[in-house]
Amino acid sequence: MKTTQIILYNQLREDYLSSGAKSYLYIHHTWKILFQWEVLNLNISSKIIDYAGGKNLVEELKNSWKKADFVTAKSFYAGLKTYAKKQWVEKYILVKPVENYVYENFLKIWEKLENLWIELEFLEDTQSFFLSHTDFEKQYKKPPIMEYFYRFMRKKENIMMNTDGTPEGWEWNYDALNRKFERKHDWSWNFSLEKNTWLWEAEEYYKQSLSFPQPTTRDEAVALLEYFLKNHLDTFGKLEDAMYQDDPYVHHSMLSASINYWLLSPREVVSAVEQSSTALNNKEGFIRQVLGWREYMYHFFQHYKDSLYTENGLNHTRSLPEYFWKNGKNCSMNCLSTTLQQVQKENISHHIQRLMIIGNFSLLTGLNPHELNKWFFEYYFDAFEWVVTPNVLGMSQYADSWKLATKPYIASANYVNKMSDYCKNCKYDPKQKDTEDACPLNYLYWNFVDKHKGVFQKWRQHFVLKNLEKVDIQRVRELSKKFLERDMV
Ligand SMILES: Cc1cc2nc3c(=O)[nH]c(=O)nc-3n(C[C@H](O)[C@H](O)[C@H](O)COP(=O)(O)OP(=O)(O)OC[C@H]3O[C@@H](n4cnc5c(N)ncnc54)[C@H](O)[C@@H]3O)c2cc1C
Ligand code: SF4
Repeated sequence: MKTTQIILYNQLREDYLSSGAKSYLYIHHTWKILFQWEVLNLNISSKIIDYAGGKNLVEELKNSWKKADFVTAKSFYAGLKTYAKKQWVEKYILVKPVENYVYENFLKIWEKLENLWIELEFLEDTQSFFLSHTDFEKQYKKPPIMEYFYRFMRKKENIMMNTDGTPEGWEWNYDALNRKFERKHDWSWNFSLEKNTWLWEAEEYYKQSLSFPQPTTRDEAVALLEYFLKNHLDTFGKLEDAMYQDDPYVHHSMLSASINYWLLSPREVVSAVEQSSTALNNKEGFIRQVLGWREYMYHFFQHYKDSLYTENGLNHTRSLPEYFWKNGKNCSMNCLSTTLQQVQKENISHHIQRLMIIGNFSLLTGLNPHELNKWFFEYYFDAFEWVVTPNVLGMSQYADSWKLATKPYIASANYVNKMSDYCKNCKYDPKQKDTEDACPLNYLYWNFVDKHKGVFQKWRQHFVLKNLEKVDIQRVRELSKKFLERDMV
């Protein structure tokens, strides 16, 4: 039977493909995607990476004497139909898409292909995660809190464990040594890549360039991993939550897209960090992100995917202001403006910018969490449904009716001023609470607590409610109203 393996945009790895296929097909079609009943326009970096990554893989396959084709098409179905006709394909095989909306799209394609007498078979994805979702569901009826899951994974995979079943260093968590901020800090991130042939071609095709040196081949991804291990892992833990105006990536790995696109496996990244000679707080801090958070978010999403899109726990409905979509510099707050401009230019930012700058602002101003989810999906090149949705709707916006986080992640200017150097370049004063010059986060914070007292009562956050009593709430409401009317258009 003439069998062709379809390769998806996030399956860019030759040795993970099936040896049973007679040929391989990569369809580049990311102009527009249908996500949650809406047509979204993906960012330019995702499109370029998709094109260049696909072309690179197809050329690699050809170099190893395999039949492989790269085609552009209006939709997956259009591409598959035309290719099948030309090449007499009788059966397509495909590693089951990790994104639910893509999988559902393929179920519809399956029906259409059946009418053309073409078979479609899904293969299990054994590479994207350590644990399959079937095994997760065998272990847990519903997702436990992340810490318990993380400890389970450490034991299961025997990562950073002593022979007697205790964690290496006898602690599960080194957060006390991590998450610092140092005022004196030089630009640190300095990774570059020579453009490969297919990246040139992709940029030519789209008439735009990739602003961030994102790997599009396996060798480039390995180079990024090696660069991170050599230059940044030793400071990863300590500055994990720090933000700098002139150093957007600090000591983060910037490996998320390479892992999500299969260029690196989560297992090899964790193993490389475990085997490194860095201090335990860096090792554990990093491994917690990949073996803990990354895995957890995937299983959390799979478990709750049907309800996540219908919930809006805090009933937030405000539309995103225009500066989210363009001209981030028009935003009056330096922390947010810097982050939005970076995302608009490079389609990437680090975790604390996502959670504590964009996420915190969105939560305090009551932005519609589903609109925000789509915004993250459109703007970031490491965005995939299983990871964006639980991070945005659960961790960041508390829209999931309290399934992921036990309390909203909210912060006033005190946090941003402690963990970044943004405030010194801002027109607002982080120390003032209720003047015209005060940082908006200070009054928006109390405005949020005032509006959602029930949530704080439910989670026994009595100290927050006690502090609310000391606040001039009329003044807070007045300043918040003014800001929301003036700065949220
Ligand atoms: C609102 C919001 C949206 C997010 N959207 C995405 C997204 O679209 N794609 C994405 O891959 N991650 C997303 N994350 C998670 C995290 O912010 C990114 O994985 C991380 O910033 C990527 O940069 P890095 O590779 O330098 O990460 P590092 O800080 O170096 O961390 C190492 C790795 O750990 C994993 N990781 C860390 N935190 C998380 C997390 N919360 N969830 C899942 N994996 C995690 C990633 O694979 C990451 O590469 C989001 C987080 C938030 C709060
Ligand atoms: S003062 Fe407020 S708005 Fe300005 S950078 Fe600091 S936290 Fe952001």
